[in-house]
Amino acid sequence: MCASEHESERNQSSQNEQAGNPSEWKRDYSELERQIDDRTLELSLLYDLSRSMNSSLSLDEFLRSILEAIHRISEADLSLIILSFEDRPVIYYYLSHLVEGRELKEIGKSAISLFHDLSGRKVRNEKTVVFRSRDYLPESYYGQSSLQIIHHMPIFRRSLSVGLMAVCSSQRRILNENRIRLLDTVSNQASATLDRFISSLESEQSRFRSVVNSMTEGVVLTDLSGHLLMTNPAADSILFRLRLDRDQGFANSFHDKDLVRSLSDLRKNRIRSLSHEITFHNYQTILNVTASAVLDADERVTGIVWVLSDITRQRQLHEQMMQAEKLSALGEMISGIAHELNNPLTSVMGYAQLLQNASVPKEVKKKLEVINSESKRCQRIVQNLLTFARKYKIEKKWFDLNGAIESVLQIISYQLRVSSIEVKKNYPQDLPRVMGDVHQIQQVLLNIFNNAMQALLEVKRKRKIMIKADFSDGKVLIEIKDNGPGIRKENISKIFDPFFTTKEPGKGTGLGLSIARTTIREHRGEINVVSNVDEGTSFLITLPAAGGVRDKDQNARLPARIDRIPAGKKILIVDDEIEIFHFIEEVLREDGHQVNFASDGRMAVKELKGSAYDLIISDFKMPRMDGKEFFSRVSRKFPHLKDRFIFMTGDTANPATSEFLEKKKVRFILKPFDLEEIRKAIRETFQES
Ligand code: ADP
Repeated sequence: MCASEHESERNQSSQNEQAGNPSEWKRDYSELERQIDDRTLELSLLYDLSRSMNSSLSLDEFLRSILEAIHRISEADLSLIILSFEDRPVIYYYLSHLVEGRELKEIGKSAISLFHDLSGRKVRNEKTVVFRSRDYLPESYYGQSSLQIIHHMPIFRRSLSVGLMAVCSSQRRILNENRIRLLDTVSNQASATLDRFISSLESEQSRFRSVVNSMTEGVVLTDLSGHLLMTNPAADSILFRLRLDRDQGFANSFHDKDLVRSLSDLRKNRIRSLSHEITFHNYQTILNVTASAVLDADERVTGIVWVLSDITRQRQLHEQMMQAEKLSALGEMISGIAHELNNPLTSVMGYAQLLQNASVPKEVKKKLEVINSESKRCQRIVQNLLTFARKYKIEKKWFDLNGAIESVLQIISYQLRVSSIEVKKNYPQDLPRVMGDVHQIQQVLLNIFNNAMQALLEVKRKRKIMIKADFSDGKVLIEIKDNGPGIRKENISKIFDPFFTTKEPGKGTGLGLSIARTTIREHRGEINVVSNVDEGTSFLITLPAAGGVRDKDQNARLPARIDRIPAGKKILIVDDEIEIFHFIEEVLREDGHQVNFASDGRMAVKELKGSAYDLIISDFKMPRMDGKEFFSRVSRKFPHLKDRFIFMTGDTANPATSEFLEKKKVRFILKPFDLEEIRKAIRETFQES
């Protein structure tokens, strides 16, 4: 009713009053009162509505205020709003008292079908939101009669029907004209404000979409039964690459029982999120899958948002780092042990040689020879261990392939023996040299031997490894063959893939052969495998070689000619091991020199201050003042002795030591050494300085 109508009614009543008819006057008065009440309600509603429209922060909050207004006007049992402008339609219910779930569904269905009749739009898989009125009664009081829509109003957005508001009651009620007019006013206001809301929501959504789309992680939204509702491009590419099923339950396509189990806890709201790592062996991919529950306003789980991250590369780097760390720790340990072994070995070897030269019976001489050759064997083992322990920059140079193979075989000789594996060698002793990093090639060979040894443990027959090498067309071909269980056909194409392993957890990383292939390719070579189940496996490596050049350094390994040093020199031996001193002292005194001893750098400096020396032979690792510090003191205080200085060390595996020796160009002999080596070093020092 408009203001002018009220005005005319008021005029009419005053005329009646003037007419002096009391009963008519009473009727008119109560009508006037009702109109004033309606008007007051209308004004207060519109005021509340405009306030909440301006202050609502979310669509839900805004719709709740509209439903509240509808409830106040209609005093209905239930009001509802259907909104169907998004991917996912929503029905908002507003209850003034308890409504059974079945009944709620029924009235929802009627509203959806009414909306469909009016707009031609279908609503499926709708989401429901339930609000309760402030005066909500937690008990139902309709008895048998069911809820019915008694009034409805369409919601338009830019002349498109996007929703419906409905007022429902359990009794046949007819709303009076005034209330209907008021409901229309609310619905018009709501349509106008909704448009603003939806526009801002849409722009927010498109901003959100572009953020999600630009993520490098795959993002997937599913409903509770696993239907995909949304994916970003990164997720699309992961789903395509890993052939993950889009149609069946999304979680099932991972074929991971643990994930499915935890997911059930997530659906039941026992946990809010979960994270799983899934390895797809067929596609050499490791995915980190995180699933988080999507909750509605009442904290109920309505969907699941998945984040898929491809962590294959990350994991590879991590494993490689772990491997490098393990090797470095092992290296440190080995270099410590080697150092400890070198000192006693020097004495054993030295005394055995000294005694061999003395006049002893033939029989004893023979035994001394055995002591000498066995300690030389120990020396080689220690040297090999040091080569493996060495932390060093990759350095490519010509190296002796025979030597590289031999030292690997020596390292594994113990395991070969205890596993009863016979090794057959079939290669010429003058294989050409190979350009590359000897340490890396040895790692490749060691890995192949280790795999062969592990595989052979599975067979009962006589275990054999055959190593064959040959040279042709500028290439060296190495074959390592075992008569183990062989590799299954379906696995042959996978063994060079990172992380492919058939070994128990903790026994294999699946990285050995993949690193081997990378290493060999970096050396411009090839590595291939031939294998037959129950017969054995053969790894073939080709490497470019020097054109038939023999290892020139081999000559260097021949024993040096024994030349005596000019006699009568005064030599200072600095070592914390008295046994080493005794041995060197004996050799040098025999050669006619005067020899003195200092147990560390400090004592040696004192000794040098007190008397003049011709030569210093010093250990590198010593307590109190180490070799490095001692050498720099000597260089400063006794510069004439700087070139008359020989280090004895077993510590060249330590990069700091080898760097120092290389930089200062100091002569050094490797512990354990024999008589001839020390004599040679002394002779060369005097010849050069
Ligand atoms: P890992 O040794 O850690 O498993 P590798 O990359 O070195 O990793 O080897 C990958 C897989 O190749 C092994 O798990 C094994 O199944 C197979 N394999 C390698 N060498 C042999 C061999 N000589 N005999 C049988 N299987 C082998």
